[in-house]
Amino acid sequence: MDYKELANLIFPNAKPISYYEEKYKPRNLKEGAVVSRFAPSPTGFVHIGGLYQALVAKLMTKKTGGVFFLRIEDTDQKREVENGVTDIVNSLKDFDMAPDEGMISDNEEVGEYGPYKQSLRKDIYESYAKYLLEMGKAYPCFCTPDEIEEIRKKQETAKIRTGYYGVWAKCRNLSIEEMANKIKNGENYIIRFKSPGREDRKIKHKDIIKGNVEFPENDQDIVIIKADGLPTYHFAHAVDDHLMRTTLVIRSDEWLSSVPLHLQLFQELGFKAPKYAHISPIMKNDNGNKRKLSKRKDPEAAVSYYKEEGIPVQAVKEYLINIANSTFENWRRANIGKSIDEFDFDINKMSVSGALFDMVKLLDIGKTVISKMSAEEVYNEAFKWSEINDKELNDMLKNKEYSLKVLGIERGSGKPRKDISKWSDVKDNIIYMYEEPKEYDFDKISGEDAKKVIAEYLNLYDENDDKDTWFNKIKDVSEKCGYAREVKEYKQNPDKWPGHVGDISTVIRVAITGRRNTPDLYEIMKVLGKEMVVKRLEKVKDNL
Ligand code: GLU
Repeated sequence: MDYKELANLIFPNAKPISYYEEKYKPRNLKEGAVVSRFAPSPTGFVHIGGLYQALVAKLMTKKTGGVFFLRIEDTDQKREVENGVTDIVNSLKDFDMAPDEGMISDNEEVGEYGPYKQSLRKDIYESYAKYLLEMGKAYPCFCTPDEIEEIRKKQETAKIRTGYYGVWAKCRNLSIEEMANKIKNGENYIIRFKSPGREDRKIKHKDIIKGNVEFPENDQDIVIIKADGLPTYHFAHAVDDHLMRTTLVIRSDEWLSSVPLHLQLFQELGFKAPKYAHISPIMKNDNGNKRKLSKRKDPEAAVSYYKEEGIPVQAVKEYLINIANSTFENWRRANIGKSIDEFDFDINKMSVSGALFDMVKLLDIGKTVISKMSAEEVYNEAFKWSEINDKELNDMLKNKEYSLKVLGIERGSGKPRKDISKWSDVKDNIIYMYEEPKEYDFDKISGEDAKKVIAEYLNLYDENDDKDTWFNKIKDVSEKCGYAREVKEYKQNPDKWPGHVGDISTVIRVAITGRRNTPDLYEIMKVLGKEMVVKRLEKVKDNL
């Protein structure tokens, strides 16, 4: 018996690899075009770090006229959850990062290089496993989980490297006949790669982000096909990224130490290896300790968090690009209003170590992003968010014409208002335009003075006044109530007055909005309209 017969015994129906090599032709793309992918497992949680990787892949493929595809890595079926694929597809859509190819829903895909879901590629993996078996580069392993555990214990006791390698790789030395007999006797087995590597030799590798790295060669006979017939990550990675013609693998740096194994697999399979870019995780400062953003401890680790909080998609993307390329911030300042697609993203400039996640900075970007939007855009986004997340806000916004005016206050000018960083801020920001205030805090102004101010102001108020006239009337009220007409005047002689025009306008502001800080009061009063302004002022006056 020879290897070929053994391979036939194991995978009698597998097609020759030439079938797939022919079917998935090299892509016809222009020189330098990057083909990259996002390859998550459908475990029900899209991590912000995953979105970050996907964004980097998307930017690189877009910049070079390449292809960005989505592959679902569902070979670990124990970890799979319901709607896992849909969650991933929708997360990319939410961030306006739909792939050019790959899964577009739980069971639909686009592109010529599919299936893009690994569980549907069993035949393909079998062909390539058979190919390795035929060459004697893979073998069936009959060790039971208990035996593997025993090996590990012995290695630990002896304080040596654990794993299935060298003298520990029992089954690699079985004769072909022994293997065939065991199979014919119905013994359970998995398929292992027969590593040609030696631990005492080094390999050098140049990672696009990490730079030059050196590792011992891989000498582990890793599992390639598991007991359930599905491949391991390592084997599927080699087969899929070869057949899908990936040129650049962008993934988390937890895989960096697997590069020696992966390069070996590509080599033994006769494939050209892709380039690798290993991305450092996003870190968090936890009371002075730097640690990875954790799925368990940090709500902001989940991509869904940003949608629920209503942090604008563009802000999240800009923030992530900013982490990836620190030059982005200056570019953004110099190119206000340009699409981020115009930024010349450079993967080589990504930092070797993990960036600290900075929520303050993200929300600050959110403020800037929202400040650049038109009232109509803010309205549409806030409305969409409120439909799912805030019924009260949604009811407020149903009055579209009025809401557009409210959201238009101090917007569109050279210095737009910058007080909303996320859609969940909107309600608190505008609620006084819909409801009368419940509390009034006039601070150092006495109730008596406040009452007088409001009474005087009511006598002068005319909703048709232009802004100068409006302000002059507040000055007139100041004077009438014994307050300084000008702030400057007051500052020169503070003992002369109980306060100045600023205090008077605060009284009016608080009476109308219940707040000491608001956008432009003149605009607020215009939008509220005469009836509401008078009603609110009268009410405060009568209750003081
Ligand atoms: N499924 C792997 C993961 O989620 C993919 C890694 C890769 O991009 O190759 O970590």
